[in-house]
Amino acid sequence: MDDRKHLVPAERMDSLAAVLGAIRNSQGMTQPQLTRLVGLGRSVVAARVAELETAGLVTQAGIGPSTGGRAPRQLRLRGEAGVVVAADIGATGMEVGVADLSGRLIEHVAEPVDIADGPEVVLGRVEEVVAGLLSRVAPGQAIWGVGIGVPGPVEFSTGLPVAPPIMPGWDAYPIRERMSRRWSAPTWVDNDVNLLALGELRTNPTAALAQDILYVKIGTGIGAGLVSAGRLHRGSNGCAGDIGHVAVAEAENVICRCGNAGCLEAIAGGAALAREGRRLAESGGSPAMAEILIATGTLTAADVTTAAERGDAAARALLARAGRLVGTTLATLVSFYNPALVVLGGGVVSAGDHVLAAIRESVYRRSLPLATRTLRIEPSSLGDTAGLAGAVHVVLDGLFDPARLARWLPYGTPAGRPELADGDVAVAA
Ligand SMILES: [Zn+2]
Repeated sequence: MDDRKHLVPAERMDSLAAVLGAIRNSQGMTQPQLTRLVGLGRSVVAARVAELETAGLVTQAGIGPSTGGRAPRQLRLRGEAGVVVAADIGATGMEVGVADLSGRLIEHVAEPVDIADGPEVVLGRVEEVVAGLLSRVAPGQAIWGVGIGVPGPVEFSTGLPVAPPIMPGWDAYPIRERMSRRWSAPTWVDNDVNLLALGELRTNPTAALAQDILYVKIGTGIGAGLVSAGRLHRGSNGCAGDIGHVAVAEAENVICRCGNAGCLEAIAGGAALAREGRRLAESGGSPAMAEILIATGTLTAADVTTAAERGDAAARALLARAGRLVGTTLATLVSFYNPALVVLGGGVVSAGDHVLAAIRESVYRRSLPLATRTLRIEPSSLGDTAGLAGAVHVVLDGLFDPARLARWLPYGTPAGRPELADGDVAVAA
């Protein structure tokens, strides 16, 4: 078949995508509201709505308030037209889920995983879990896309992991190719922190309002995701926000897992907290941490927080130092980038207030007043499914991008068209 026959003129596709975008982002919108919002003529909007209804993407949601005359119909995205598959793979655990086209998670499961087992084992398990979920909650449904998050750097245009430090065996593994072939659907692969930032942007109303956001994850490692003017900023290679490996003077004698000395993560990340906590416990510097070490035989970053909450001075000092170091780096980013909202996530932040308080203090002390006048620094409002939400939305944003929409809408559905995820389209945030 000659694809050219099916091409849709660009300006028509832009207006179609604008109308669809407005309907996607609302809880039911009338045609007059739509006309005001997208700034197109009434007849153009009516024609685009009719096209989207014919394509099965939009349907009537109810009747809107009348402004005199006949009450207008409310429109909504037909979320039930297809499903999106998502997996958020971490270093030690993964979330796998199925969502509808509105981004609502239909069902998801969490299970432990060891990323170091390599892609064959881990992705094999992802595929089994997805198959189980689909047969339970979406039998026979068309899969419109697949979103995968991994805990390492990803070249977004190709979906290939690039020398990921904690993912042995994954370097340049063709995750996208494998998944798109397995599910016969376009597949997007991204770094976990980018997906956390995107999940926050798309599902937290405060973040959606802020538009310029820095998401900082402090878990075992440290990383950040940047949202600029409502779009995820990945940088030219996809590694924007990799702040765990910026140099910190106090860490100059500490070797990082990346091979360099002096990285922020090597002194302020969860692994560093656990290592320092253990040293203090063994040297008699912290009675509370020594007690935990004797009782459990191990000491984690969460144990440092537990000890701090019991009033242990050494544990508190350790967390305060980590918070101050992250905060000082963040202050530089805040001056450089002027976000409206900094969201803090990851195990070290969610474990307690000590780190959060120290980060806030450093950022406010080290930044100029104009940059912090309206700046909010808040813990993530999303739970364990934040990364999964991001993995769902990276697919939906990709599919409904005007240029990509033009490539599949004439066929009715993107299901069965794995090549749609190719990096040749200016990728939506
Ligand atoms: Zn490093």
